[in-house]
Amino acid sequence: MELWYTEQHTDSVRFSIKVKRHLLSEQSDFQRIDVFESDEFGKFLTLDGLMMVTEKDEFIYHDMIVHVPMASNPGIRNVLVIGAGDGGTVRELTRYDSVAHIDMVEIDKKVVDVCIAYLPQLSCRLGDKRVHIHYEDGLKFVRQKQNAYDLIIVDSTDPFGPGEGLFTKEFYGSCVGALSNDGILVNQHESPYYPAYARNMKRAHRRIREFFPVCRVYQAHIPTYPSGHWLFGFASKSIDPLCLDADKWNALGLKTGYYNTDLHKAAFALPNYVTEMLENADDES
Ligand code: SAM
Repeated sequence: MELWYTEQHTDSVRFSIKVKRHLLSEQSDFQRIDVFESDEFGKFLTLDGLMMVTEKDEFIYHDMIVHVPMASNPGIRNVLVIGAGDGGTVRELTRYDSVAHIDMVEIDKKVVDVCIAYLPQLSCRLGDKRVHIHYEDGLKFVRQKQNAYDLIIVDSTDPFGPGEGLFTKEFYGSCVGALSNDGILVNQHESPYYPAYARNMKRAHRRIREFFPVCRVYQAHIPTYPSGHWLFGFASKSIDPLCLDADKWNALGLKTGYYNTDLHKAAFALPNYVTEMLENADDES
């Protein structure tokens, strides 16, 4: 008998991965947590039946959510990470000696415990002494912070369930207050391809640009996310990610599987249909 993990990407599109073993299924206070093992993607984590990370393609997502802002401002010392319970974002951040302090705010302790037990490739740096884990709602945590961070990374679930508050105007307004003058906000920004995701993407962009003078979007190819075409938001009070000191980042000698400084600039060059969606982000709610 064959076992397949199937995710409904739209009413008429499904994505499936052949599964070797279903390693875990648990209900937390917030969501259903599953871990599977497969030949093609290695082990993978889903929350409420939606793909979060696979061992095979997680490097793309984590390279792009971390190294793009880190290369844009080599002076980043204090970082707030919201969500990211698998540990992949923290793993990449801890590779920078210049990072002094990382607050990671994850609403669901069970996700972290599961990833420590089943996904050490991702969770391996959660014990770094610069990492401080807070089991709280990111929306509430960020409200209490003023001028505290050089970088906020929102590595959340989609804008429903526990992640909903992390796509609201209130949240983006609190992020402005929590960031230093050259602070950067990077968030996972959904996909432009299927209409339901594109609506969320446009809404997030519209809201973020109300608060930040620099508001850009960049892209990556993530095979296991809906359509494979995924976006990230880059917002800042002053730093333009296209004014990059590539030599400075390259001098760090960090080995990466996806990110490089040529790709950094290229990732901000968007297909015409995406640029149009962003320009017309006010048109729909
Ligand atoms: N890379 C993934 C993606 O884009 O699909 C995200 C992975 S990470 C596992 C997402 C985490 O965000 C989950 O563990 C979830 O518990 C957490 N999360 C969701 N809403 C949150 C909130 N309001 N505050 C803090 N963490 C939250």
